[in-house]
Amino acid sequence: MNYDYVIIGGGIVGAATAYSILKKKPGSKLLLIEKAPYLSKHQTGNNSGVIHSGLYYKPGSLKAKNCTTGREMMYQFCEEHNIHHERCGKIVVATTQNEIFRLNDIEMRGKANGLTGLKRLDFKEIRDYEPYCAGIEGLFVPQTGIVDYTKVVKKLAELIENLGGEIKLNCEFIQLRQHRDELTLLTSTGDYETKFLINCGGLQSDVIAQLCGVDPEIKIIPFRGEYFKLVPEKEFLVNNLIYPVPDPAFPFLGVHFTRMAKGGVEAGPNAVPAFKEKDIAGLTLV
Ligand SMILES: Cc1cc2nc3c(=O)[nH]c(=O)nc-3n(C[C@H](O)[C@H](O)[C@H](O)COP(=O)(O)OP(=O)(O)OC[C@H]3O[C@@H](n4cnc5c(N)ncnc54)[C@H](O)[C@@H]3O)c2cc1C
Repeated sequence: MNYDYVIIGGGIVGAATAYSILKKKPGSKLLLIEKAPYLSKHQTGNNSGVIHSGLYYKPGSLKAKNCTTGREMMYQFCEEHNIHHERCGKIVVATTQNEIFRLNDIEMRGKANGLTGLKRLDFKEIRDYEPYCAGIEGLFVPQTGIVDYTKVVKKLAELIENLGGEIKLNCEFIQLRQHRDELTLLTSTGDYETKFLINCGGLQSDVIAQLCGVDPEIKIIPFRGEYFKLVPEKEFLVNNLIYPVPDPAFPFLGVHFTRMAKGGVEAGPNAVPAFKEKDIAGLTLV
């Protein structure tokens, strides 16, 4: 079977890449393969569903450009395709004097990244947004929103198939053979030939690169996330999204309170129910 493009990975990156290629090059023979029995099974279907603003990234960096442009593209895509989303905003809350210096820095970065309408909050104003949240200063970021990314991928999959692309589930990439300009993928469901292979394997993408004989010169080190779910009778404690000021000593760690987009997964399928009030008191909320 001959393709122009084969994409490995049925998360949001693989699905968005496939859709984008088919829009730019209509009529291309494109195959998206996913080893799981359904799309979005990994990160995409288990994340917090936040549409990030681009607040934290170094101004001028690719991450900053990607995040700010991608954010607006995501809102536009959701509007065009009637996918429920909310531009609800978030607050970042400082609880110590030291965190206020870091909040100043974050605000400056946000402005340099083109975020307008950022609003500094004193301890009373924090409560206008989140009545059960205590802090000494805060920052409201209006651009942040929420969406169910599994719904975004579902829509992308529909568009890919409408444009003539193929999606194969339960299809694991195992190895690559290269012969002149032709690439042959060995997979769990057979062999496929392609001109271009695009690796969107998420946390496996370094391993996939190695299976293709490429040294990515990086190693992905995944961090495990834990979700807790507010019991329904305590949901009133959080209106929207509440974030602490990131601690540079633990850049990947932080306890966030997020609300899921209606009709979405509630804090991921593995969410642990029953978050007790006394646990919350130790974090940002009182
Ligand atoms: C706990 C957590 C919370 C997050 N919260 C947010 C958030 O709120 N907002 C946000 O924007 N981002 C968030 N992120 C990040 C976001 O989820 C990821 O950046 C995004 O989902 C990555 O998409 P992906 O398509 O690259 O990866 P994935 O969704 O992981 O997809 C990769 C796919 O490749 C497939 N694959 C791997 N190996 C093979 C193979 N050999 N053959 C075939 N298929 C293969 C996998 O099965 C998988 O489905 C969060 C991440 C985590 C872990």
